[in-house]
Amino acid sequence: MLDYNFTEEQELFRESMREFCTKEIAPRSEKLEGLHEMPAEIVKTLANFELLGMPVDPDYGGLEADAVTMGIAVEELARADPNCSIPVFFLVENSWSHVLNKYGTDQAKQEILPKVVSGERFLGIASTESDVGSDLGSMKTKIRKSENGYVVNGEKMYISGISEALAFGGGHVTLARMTEDLGTRGMNLFYLPLDASGISTTLIGEMGRDGISFGGFNIDNVEIPAHYLIGEENKGFYIIHEGYELARGLIGLVCAGTALKSLENGMAYIKERKAFGKPIGKYEGIQFKLAEHYVKMQALRDLSYKALWTYDQEAQGKASRFDVSMAMAMAKSVASEWAFAAINDVMQWQGAFGYSTECPDQKALRGVRSFSLAEGSAEIMKLIIARELLGKEFLAYR
Ligand SMILES: Cc1cc2nc3c(=O)[nH]c(=O)nc-3n(C[C@H](O)[C@H](O)[C@H](O)COP(=O)(O)OP(=O)(O)OC[C@H]3O[C@@H](n4cnc5c(N)ncnc54)[C@H](O)[C@@H]3O)c2cc1C
Repeated sequence: MLDYNFTEEQELFRESMREFCTKEIAPRSEKLEGLHEMPAEIVKTLANFELLGMPVDPDYGGLEADAVTMGIAVEELARADPNCSIPVFFLVENSWSHVLNKYGTDQAKQEILPKVVSGERFLGIASTESDVGSDLGSMKTKIRKSENGYVVNGEKMYISGISEALAFGGGHVTLARMTEDLGTRGMNLFYLPLDASGISTTLIGEMGRDGISFGGFNIDNVEIPAHYLIGEENKGFYIIHEGYELARGLIGLVCAGTALKSLENGMAYIKERKAFGKPIGKYEGIQFKLAEHYVKMQALRDLSYKALWTYDQEAQGKASRFDVSMAMAMAKSVASEWAFAAINDVMQWQGAFGYSTECPDQKALRGVRSFSLAEGSAEIMKLIIARELLGKEFLAYR
């Protein structure tokens, strides 16, 4: 039976999120401009509302929340923080705490997850390197066994949450090559604390996401204990996709939430602003664009919630990993591009004011642009969709 309704519990959660975001997130979002680091006070605010480590087992302090509920939370956060950094902080922490919760050792979970939930430790993701992003099979960072665990050498670049991991403590779920000849079948996933001896960090400027840091780190003979391995040896490439996929569905809703809020700003403006004797909202040239963007944003919302619902179905054994990959890729393949186009038109409707730094929509434009790359580029999403449609034998890189 097809049912498009959220449960009563989910509706109540949305209402409480809307109230929380209006009172606690929107005023704080305004102060993020130019900061490029998430203030500890915002992290505490998120933690107090039980928004960090949501999918984590109650044994480690979490709520065991489903993916759709996390989608509701991130959509509301996106409406309140146009530059997308608070939603990004939320989705990174939740996607990677989910992976650690599902595949980590009990010792690592005891040590790390309760602190992620309480906002005392950051947990990000580090797979990208200066020379390798989409093509993870060509990764150069290496991990080898040592007497007490593992030793890692290499570098990671274009990583979110560098300053946060240094400021609050914490680190990144990291991917490195373990077995040389096995390609993607020879990679390990592990937790890498950024305060480990042998790590040196750098920061990079970015065009949007004013409230989160972005940078990289060198890894020089860094020793990590055996219990930081996440999942089995040589299975890292497969496990990492569970985090990326959850993040992709959540990103769909960040883009939809941000752009729908922008369209609301735009509607208020075009009803008031007059040109040639009439409110500009009366002109077809503006109305048609509004209608087209609204339809696309509702389609994106539906694709994203369906993808997150499929993720939850898979957890109950009612959908396959391929169903999940396809649904997530479909949502993310259009998310950034459609949201960017909608916000860009909202800016255009506002004339010169739309281009000024006073206008919140320009922050939204810069924020959603990041998602055409972060957590898998739009082009890679299309490769995944085509792989599911045509079969693996049509993969160009095989
Ligand atoms: C704001 C931001 C935050 C990020 N945060 C993180 C993070 O926290 N952790 C992390 O590990 N990474 C992070 N990344 C990196 C991100 O995952 C990579 O940028 C992304 O995977 C693409 O890799 P790349 O930049 O190396 O581009 P490349 O892989 O070099 O690709 C370059 C271009 O070619 C296209 N392309 C590549 N292969 C194909 C193909 N077969 N067919 C068609 N087109 C193709 C790509 O889509 C892209 O447009 C972040 C990136 C951004 C922009």
